[in-house]
Amino acid sequence: KEEEEAIRRSKALEQDDIDALRKVSRQEYLKKREEKKLEELRDEIEDEQYLFDGVKLTEAERRELRYKKEIYELVSKRRGEDASEISEYRIPDAYDVEGGVNQEKRFAVALQRYRDGGESGGKMNPFAEQEAWEEHQIGKATLKFGSKNKKQNADNYEYVFEDQIDFIKASVMDGDELKDEMLMEAEEDSKPKSALEKLQEERKTLPIYPYREELLSAVRDHQVLIIVGETGSGKTTQIPQYLHEAGYTKVGMIGCTQPRRVAAMSVSARVSQELGVKLGHEVGYSIRFEDCTSEKTVLKYMTDGMLLREFLGEPDLASYSVIMVDEAHERTLSTDILFGLVKDVARFRPDLKLLISSATLDAEKFSDYFDSAPIFKIPGRRYPVEIHYTTAPEADYLDAAIVTALQIHVREPPGDVLIFLTGQEEIETAEEIMKQRTRGLGTKIAELIICPIYANLPTDLQAKIFEPTPEGARKVVLATNIAETSLTIHGIKYVIDPGFVKMKSYNPRTGMESLLVTPISKASANQRAGRSGRTGPGKCYRLYTAYNYQQDLEDNTVPEVQRTNLANVVLSLKSLGIHDLLNFDFMDPPPSEALLKALELLYALGALNKLGELTKVGRRMAEFPLDPMLSKMIVASEKYKCSEEVITIAAMLSIGNSIFYRPKDKQVHADTARMRFHEGNVGDHIALLKIYNDWKSCDYGSMWCFENYVQVRSMKRARDIRDQLEGLLERVEIEATSSLNDLEAIKKSITAGFFPHTGKLQKNGSYRTIKHSQTVYLHPSSGLAQMEPQPRWVVYHELVLTTKEYMRQVTELIPGWLVEIAPHYYQTKD
Ligand code: ADP
Ligand code: MG
Repeated sequence: KEEEEAIRRSKALEQDDIDALRKVSRQEYLKKREEKKLEELRDEIEDEQYLFDGVKLTEAERRELRYKKEIYELVSKRRGEDASEISEYRIPDAYDVEGGVNQEKRFAVALQRYRDGGESGGKMNPFAEQEAWEEHQIGKATLKFGSKNKKQNADNYEYVFEDQIDFIKASVMDGDELKDEMLMEAEEDSKPKSALEKLQEERKTLPIYPYREELLSAVRDHQVLIIVGETGSGKTTQIPQYLHEAGYTKVGMIGCTQPRRVAAMSVSARVSQELGVKLGHEVGYSIRFEDCTSEKTVLKYMTDGMLLREFLGEPDLASYSVIMVDEAHERTLSTDILFGLVKDVARFRPDLKLLISSATLDAEKFSDYFDSAPIFKIPGRRYPVEIHYTTAPEADYLDAAIVTALQIHVREPPGDVLIFLTGQEEIETAEEIMKQRTRGLGTKIAELIICPIYANLPTDLQAKIFEPTPEGARKVVLATNIAETSLTIHGIKYVIDPGFVKMKSYNPRTGMESLLVTPISKASANQRAGRSGRTGPGKCYRLYTAYNYQQDLEDNTVPEVQRTNLANVVLSLKSLGIHDLLNFDFMDPPPSEALLKALELLYALGALNKLGELTKVGRRMAEFPLDPMLSKMIVASEKYKCSEEVITIAAMLSIGNSIFYRPKDKQVHADTARMRFHEGNVGDHIALLKIYNDWKSCDYGSMWCFENYVQVRSMKRARDIRDQLEGLLERVEIEATSSLNDLEAIKKSITAGFFPHTGKLQKNGSYRTIKHSQTVYLHPSSGLAQMEPQPRWVVYHELVLTTKEYMRQVTELIPGWLVEIAPHYYQTKD
């Protein structure tokens, strides 16, 4: 009887938990949990309080960890059951100081992920990229793109109709008043025109053109101007040209910042065409690790991060006559910092013109910040857009997006399609599936041209999205968020919006940063929808419900400064001589906790002294356009006489995770090739070094890459980056020394930069981070994941959260090093 009662009670509790989860009222849930577990917790806390002397876990920290673990367990239990039962998820405020940035959002996404995973065959979800890889590695599941049935049906024309998604038309976004009559039509002239003439005519058809003179006189009359205009009106490409034509480049350059590399490259290419000059001459671009400008350059497009770096060498921006901070609404970290810096420069350089341009209408905030600067509105030219929502939440948004695109292709009148996806891998997957499903349909459907666009796409392929679509064909553009406002693509009539974006999130308390697939904001959703109404009335298909839109999406995206690690920026500001960071003129200040965390890290790395002043190490670190921990690793390599190896590792780490590729039919070969570099369990950092050196010893050949399933493009980029780091070594007067066979020296340098990222093995095979006692795991792609027994101590490059919190790029470490290298940070237990 007793047993029965116990079971009944535990079941009731479970039901409670599930109910709690369903509403996901965190406070309530926590309270209930707290009562039940408090005692248990306390015992544990006592055990685990001292990991290292001086590293105490507060009760709140423990609680959060437990909460996290439990919520995962709880939800995993639900896997396999009818997961659609959990039909609500809440997206609370992105930032709350107590809970940490985006923690709850993370759960919301995780919840949804589990919900998705419960549905048959639905393996595609916000975490699909990593998960697919992880699962393959773990051997639990095979990689599936949709279910098998779908694949078999792929060459069936009916398929497109069979697997359909229902939408309801919910609303119409009004168009802007059309000002077409004011625009000069590109005249149909019988005499043949040169390409340049045609481009010049095209320029005159842009919405901004009728306002050219007005704009120029506004710039003349005001030092700071806020410019607002719908995407595609010509802000980015035309305004710098107008100013050039008006003579502003006689006294200095015109700099125009972009939040994204691709945009800087693509836009400058376009402008150089319009001016009929070679890219890199009068018009150039500058992005991290790539400077395509020359003595001649007067119009310079650059990432906001690059302008920030230029401040280090030229704090008054003397070589510029105009600075245009473009895409200001994106509110990237660098843009926000630039605001503060250019505002300051403008005060003592009355000759400097400052333009802040934005695609969103709430420009008042910019105006307020820049001492009530006037707002110049470029009337838009957008046609009405019909908004369609799904009738039920879509579990697998990637698949849903593809089905919707094919549905449009078969049923809707001509017009190109734009799909917003979250990253390169997802885009590549979508491309592959679409090709596969349309293959064999032959003439049954019209030609479908698939164009991917993302940051690492080679430039020549990027150009493809701007090419006009041939008669009778339809173009489907698969884009990251870059197409939201940075790039305008002609002829888009249909937008498919799954409602997600990859976004950085940061917990200032633990200092942990992760790149997460996160729901977009309402503002973003509307920008995306607007992309379909450029050339005529458009349609936007949202792969979520109207209820989701209303209830779950936040109004605006949280500025990056409030959800990121600030160490890099703090280091830059310090080297600019800006000491009082708490009083820096932020448009939206970051949480002071995040600032303190950054100072603390820089102090631990030896970049700042106790007074918060830049040290010699810090000055050297600031020269490198890298994360402070990477810079520190390089600076420390001087001591261990292995700078040659360490900059190679830094370069390889900088190219991200696109080194190897795994063709579907050759996955085993690819994995064997990859594991060869991990022989002897040297750790992932050393493996990267071996890859690079192996390639180098084969004359940087493509054949070598091909044989080893390594991406040539990534390696070339690593080589470029390495060359630049080599130049910077010289600049900070670190001798290039090599100790190829002294792995300990190399590992010590790595540890000198990454000692705040260390973990200790637990009994269950997981690791616990030393500083914050977070449970983390070796990423299955790590060479050390195969090591038996597992290494006891590790240092890792980064954490990624997918199904679990994983450490990526990991190397074994000897704990004694920590005490030797960072005695102020680590102490032995007496
Ligand atoms: P905004 O900055 O206001 O969004 P842009 O200046 O970027 O507008 O774009 C103006 C026009 O130039 C758009 O119609 C766009 O299609 C065109 N355009 C921009 N870049 C390119 C390119 N690389 N190739 C072809 N057309 C382009
Ligand atoms: Mg623009």
